[in-house]
Amino acid sequence: AGDELLAEVASRIEAAVRPGDVVARLGGDEFAVIIGDMLRLSDAQHAADRIDEALTRPIEVSGDTAVITTSIGIAVSEGDDEPEELLRDADTALHRAKEAGRDTSIMFDDNLRDRAVRRLDVENMLRRALDTEALVVHYQPVLDVASGELSGSEALVRLRSEDGSLVMPGAFIDVAEESGLIATLGHQVLVQSIRQTAAWNREHAPGQQPLSIAVNVSARQLTDPNYPNEIRREIFDAGLAPNLLSIELTESALIDGNPITERALQELHDFGCRIGLDDFGTGFSSLAYLKRFPISFLKIDRSFVSGLGEDEDDSAIVRATLGLAHGLNLTVVAEGVETPHQLSCLAELNCDRVQGYLFSKPVDADTFRKYLGLRWKG
Ligand code: C2E
Ligand code: CA
Ligand code: CA
Repeated sequence: AGDELLAEVASRIEAAVRPGDVVARLGGDEFAVIIGDMLRLSDAQHAADRIDEALTRPIEVSGDTAVITTSIGIAVSEGDDEPEELLRDADTALHRAKEAGRDTSIMFDDNLRDRAVRRLDVENMLRRALDTEALVVHYQPVLDVASGELSGSEALVRLRSEDGSLVMPGAFIDVAEESGLIATLGHQVLVQSIRQTAAWNREHAPGQQPLSIAVNVSARQLTDPNYPNEIRREIFDAGLAPNLLSIELTESALIDGNPITERALQELHDFGCRIGLDDFGTGFSSLAYLKRFPISFLKIDRSFVSGLGEDEDDSAIVRATLGLAHGLNLTVVAEGVETPHQLSCLAELNCDRVQGYLFSKPVDADTFRKYLGLRWKG
């Protein structure tokens, strides 16, 4: 059926352009159209509109009707570009069109050129950092609300740039995901943070609760069938109990319904790792996910925690999330706790764990070491 669909799409594109234009399939579901001797810039846009229109009509495949959406990226050359450059620019515009919600067309311009250049810079910086192990993991304490004790930390990645300053993840995670470098990055963070946590647990005073470690995982990493094996091997090598490792993912990793992701989560759960939904409340917050996937904890997003005790809606959302989670036997971690007032609201609502600037920003391993055995209250 997929082949039939592609063949029909190809012939519709062909019918939508002029006889001298070139239509090619680049691979997968991507096509390229080359339009020669255009008179006006708007001709390209018109051609894109015609193609889009041709593809909105439902398509019959194997007796069923398929409805598809089209994203189009346009690049115009005045004759002085290399073919590769033109294709690359069209591809950049295409990605932008997909980000803009699909079913749209975007023309490559100076703005996109700047973005593309920035992406390339970031990607190069990232590659260098991964090669030279310039990746730094910071640890943010996670506290048990009832006891006020440190229960573990969340590993948050930073890059050491050439001038020695630290680059925050907001500046490079998206590029890492798109370029596929996220797998290497994620692996390095995993290895560093679980070895570090195992080492802390060895020097931690006996009788203390061992520290847990939470790592963030991108949707893309979970579609690698080998990911659970990688975790198992590293945990084993580091000598960390599997239940001390938490994997934090966002709902966006689940919406595709990818069977590999589903299997990976199940394997990790069976192995004993804890799986948590990050930024809970900001996405689709489909309750079906909580039932379908082996989720052990939720992290309430900072945006709701910040209004606690002041904004009625935020307070209601936090209260409802805690009620729901506890009803399903899930643990709740509140992130972005910045004030004693927020903490007391969370304690009153029986929130299990907290993290935020009130206790500590994410810090390097040496600084975190000094927190061991520390109590934040009482
Ligand atoms: P996140 O997982 O939601 O992490 C929490 C972010 O909130 C961190 O930002 C943390 O520094 C910040 N934060 C913590 N407490 C407070 C607070 O009280 N107030 C405020 N204003 N902020 C607080 P950071 O370190 O910049 O990380 C941003 C995001 O980058 C993370 O969001 C996570 O999605 C991603 N990320 C970080 N490390 C990794 C990684 O190793 N792999 C992947 N895939 N993503 C990562
Ligand atoms: Ca997180
Ligand atoms: Ca979060």
